[in-house]
Amino acid sequence: MKQTEDIVEQGTDLDPKDWNTIRELGHQIIEDMVDYLTDLDDQPVWKKIPAEVKENLKQSIPYVPSNPDEVYKEFKRDIFPYPKGNIHPRFFGWVEGNGTALGALAELLASIMNPNVGIGEHSGMYVERQVLDWCKQMLNYPSYSSGILLSGASMANITALLVARNAASDAIKADGVHADAAVGKLTAYCSSETHNCIVKAMEVIGLGHKQLRKIPVDEYYQIDTTALRKQIVYDQQEGYTPFCLIGNAGTVNTGAIDPMDELLRIAREFDLWFHVDGAFGALAKMVPVYKDKLKALEEADSIAFDLHKWMYMPYEVGCVLIRDADMHRKTFTVEADYLAAHKRGVAAGPETFSHFGMELSRGFKALKVWMSLKEHGLEKYQKLIAQNITQASCLGSLIKGKPRLELMADIPMNVVCYRFNPGHLDDFNLNRLNKELLMRLYESGVAAPTYTFLDGRYAIRVSLTNHRTKQKDLVKLVETSLAIGEKVLNEEFLSQEK
Ligand SMILES: *Cc1c(COP(=O)(O)O)cnc(C)c1O
Repeated sequence: MKQTEDIVEQGTDLDPKDWNTIRELGHQIIEDMVDYLTDLDDQPVWKKIPAEVKENLKQSIPYVPSNPDEVYKEFKRDIFPYPKGNIHPRFFGWVEGNGTALGALAELLASIMNPNVGIGEHSGMYVERQVLDWCKQMLNYPSYSSGILLSGASMANITALLVARNAASDAIKADGVHADAAVGKLTAYCSSETHNCIVKAMEVIGLGHKQLRKIPVDEYYQIDTTALRKQIVYDQQEGYTPFCLIGNAGTVNTGAIDPMDELLRIAREFDLWFHVDGAFGALAKMVPVYKDKLKALEEADSIAFDLHKWMYMPYEVGCVLIRDADMHRKTFTVEADYLAAHKRGVAAGPETFSHFGMELSRGFKALKVWMSLKEHGLEKYQKLIAQNITQASCLGSLIKGKPRLELMADIPMNVVCYRFNPGHLDDFNLNRLNKELLMRLYESGVAAPTYTFLDGRYAIRVSLTNHRTKQKDLVKLVETSLAIGEKVLNEEFLSQEK
C-alpha cells in the first residue's frame, strides 16, 4: 500500500533527476563531435571492428538503469570508433551521402520537439509541405503535384509503383490484383541496369517480378528503345496489360541516364505510367549541362529521389513526387473516425500524410531538409553536384594516364569504374586480383570505393556523391590503387606463374 501511495504522489518518468547533468553531457557531446568533424581527413576511412567489441554488442537486455555518462562512454568505446566511413572525404562506395553538421543539429532539434508528422495542426506539418514544394521547384515539377518524404528511394519507388498500379485498374483497391480479369497481367518495363528495389517493389505490390520486363541496354548502359517497343507490342499481343515504364536517371552501376525524351514518347504512345528512378541522378537536372537531358522528368507521372545521397543530408530522407495528386490520394486513403480532421485545435491541420503513403506515425525528417536548404541555398548544392561530376571526369583522366589502370566504362555523370590491369592476365585472374586489391584498400584505411561487374568483369567503382572530396583525394586513390595492385600482382600472381 505504501508503495502505491509513493507512486501516486511522486510518479516516475524518464526525465533526468538533475537537468544540469544532461546539459553538461550535451555540451560534451557537441565538443567531441565538432572535434571529430574537424579532424576527419586524418582518420582512416574504415577500420576493422575487433572481436571483443562485437562481443560487447551481444549483451543481454539491461534491466537496471545506468548513468547517461556511462552510456556515452560505452558509445565512445564500442560504437563511435567503427563507423561505415561514408562521411569521410575518401569514401566513394555504393551511392552514399555524407551529412552535414547543421543537418545533425537539425536531427537533434527534431527529436527534442519529437512531433509525429502524420497528422495534426503543428509546425512540422507545414515544414514538410514547404519542403515538398521546394522539391518540386528543384526539379521544375508541377506545383499541383503531390509528394511525401520517405526513408529513401526504395520506399519512394514502391510508393510510386503502387499509385501506378492502382491507376491501371479501378478494381484493384477493393478486389486485389487477381480479381480484375479484364485487366489481365499488368507488366512494367525498365532496363536491365535498373536498381533491384524496383524488382522488390514489383514483388511486394503483388504483380511479381516476372511481370517486370528487363530490357537490354546498349554500349552506354542505356535502355535499348527498339527492344523496348518490341517487347511492349509482343506483350499486348500475348494478352498482358503494359501499365508502367520506368526510366533511370543515373544507374547504380555506371551512372547511365536512359534516353528520357524517347521513353516519355513511348509511354504516351502506349498509355503507360512514366516513372523515373532518379535516386541520385534526378538532381543533376539542376546542373546546366544535364538540364536538357533530364527535361522530360517534368512530364513524368512520378519521380523518386533521395535527399540523403546527392543533397548530402543525414540519413534517412527520400522523396516521391506524383503528378496526379488525386490518384496518389486515392491509393492510400482509408477513412477512419479517429483520423477525421476537426475545425480547430491540434486535431485540425492540413491533410494527413497518411493519405499519401503507408505510414501514419512519421518523424520530422523535413526539418533537416528545411534547415540545410536555408543554410546553404540551392546554388551551393548545384555547385557541389557539378563539382562531383567534374571530379568524375578528372578521375577518368587520371586513370587514363596510368598504363596499368584501365577505365572500364564511359563516365556519363559521377560514377567511375576501373581496374588494375598489368596487361597479361585473363579476366578470371584480373577479377581475383582486383577483388583482393579492393579489400586491401579498405584495410589500408586510405579510401573506400566499392565494386560491380560489367559484362562479367570485376570493376572497382567510385561514386562521387561526396561534398568533402577534393582533387588530392582522387590522386591518393589512384596512387594507392596502383601501389596495392603492384603488390598483389607480385605476391599472388607472378609467383604462381613461375
Ligand atoms: C540508392 C538507389 C536506390 C535505393 O535508394 P535508397 O535510398 O537506398 O532506398 C534506388 N535506385 C537507385 C538508382 C539508387 O542509386
